[in-house]
Amino acid sequence: MAKPVIAIVGRPNVGKSTIFNRIVGERVSIVEDIPGITRDRIYSAGEWLNHEFNIIDTGGIEIGDAPFLIEIRQQAEVAIDEADVIIFMTNGREGVTSADEEVAKILYKSKKPVVLAVNKIDNPEMREQIWDFYALGFGEPFPISGSHGLGLGDLLDEASKHFPKDAGDNYGDEVIKFSLIGRPNVGKSSLVNALLGQERVIVSNVAGTTRDAVDTPYSKDGQDYVIIDTAGMRKRGKVYESTEKYSVLRALRAIERSDVVLVVLDGEEGIIEQDKKIAGYAHEAGRAVVIVVNKWDAVKKDEKTMKEFEEKIRAHFQFLDYAPIVFLSAKTRKRTQTLLPMINKACESHNLRVPTNVLNEVIMDAIAMNPTPTHNGQRLRVYYATQVAVKPPTFVVFVNDAELMHFSYERFLENRIREAFDFTGSPIKIISRTRN
Ligand code: GDP
Ligand code: GDP
Repeated sequence: MAKPVIAIVGRPNVGKSTIFNRIVGERVSIVEDIPGITRDRIYSAGEWLNHEFNIIDTGGIEIGDAPFLIEIRQQAEVAIDEADVIIFMTNGREGVTSADEEVAKILYKSKKPVVLAVNKIDNPEMREQIWDFYALGFGEPFPISGSHGLGLGDLLDEASKHFPKDAGDNYGDEVIKFSLIGRPNVGKSSLVNALLGQERVIVSNVAGTTRDAVDTPYSKDGQDYVIIDTAGMRKRGKVYESTEKYSVLRALRAIERSDVVLVVLDGEEGIIEQDKKIAGYAHEAGRAVVIVVNKWDAVKKDEKTMKEFEEKIRAHFQFLDYAPIVFLSAKTRKRTQTLLPMINKACESHNLRVPTNVLNEVIMDAIAMNPTPTHNGQRLRVYYATQVAVKPPTFVVFVNDAELMHFSYERFLENRIREAFDFTGSPIKIISRTRN
């Protein structure tokens, strides 16, 4: 199920990034600790009471040297296209400006709910300032202070009232939902065509001409699939093409609705930074992942080429070490028939539950083989492990003191679990809990 999306829009310097960072909080820095993941600051998960959502800071989307008004218009369009709710942010210390009115004009035309925030209201005496903002025509303005963290609760309460009631998909559990993500021109649409065996998606070598996104239901060998948001990664319009960050944004929506994510790379062009970003999001979302190297037909190769490319992938995408790699060609359809079985496998791993007794045997054997770490004379003791979730498989390990669990030891346990059970294509999570 996709989380609702909030976008923050407003002219420069009203405090959008400040608010974004407040709402996102600690999360960003935790996420950045995962080795190999480069992350955009413009999109992140947030939480308010029992609501989970994603939030976009459109101010982070820079459109090169575009004149101010064009830039702000494009940012507003991004928000309108991507968000369920828009927070329109203004500066209470400067009053309503003509740039605010420009933004307002664009937002009027959208059917998206807009919540008006007046920032930099750092103390109650300043509340008087908000009344002018009624003139923008979005109802009650919400006074906030990014610097002091004031008013955010009320603002998010209001925003969450506009979250879609049922953001869920109506596909049954037995249907495998997958998406193809990757930068423009790696061959996502061509690959979908190859899978569908017919020219259902219009492909062109001019980036950005693929039709709007639709879910494509599809059946093969008795298994139902839905291909999510296939072409949507390159929606019409220039904004979608002109910024790299933006294609990441599109991919995120697809990832969240998927069981399995195909990270598509261009074998001819090789791996670039943007591929890593996109792959990083797939990993973070906890989805099953298959890495696809497309355009293998166009690669000059000898018997070592595939192995070398594979090593390069493993080095660049260390965090995706569980993802199988498929080399294929959407154009010649070579090996495209291996893709669905791989998707099935990854999905099966993502849903795998292992019996508790066998799991504990594996863990205890692992500990016997490689003693637990010590810290300040204290040794980590592992009592018991249990699988608490699937999608992705999540294990809780009860220990004497969770602080004593090193990343490297956790990694070791994960590897032992992977050797004992087949989790190909799926991330697994290990959580250490202190139990006295
Ligand atoms: P953005 O361009 O809209 O993303 O704005 P920033 O978040 O970069 O903030 C612009 C400036 O306003 C920075 O110097 C912030 O420290 C300042 N600022 C942000 N929020 C507040 C606030 O609530 N009160 C005051 N006094 N300054 C703020
Ligand atoms: P998308 O932007 O990722 O959806 O990429 P497209 O499917 O539109 O493909 C971009 C370009 O790459 C088109 O010119 C395709 O014909 C070409 N292309 C796609 N797959 C292959 C392939 O397997 N081999 C070769 N040589 N070209 C391909």
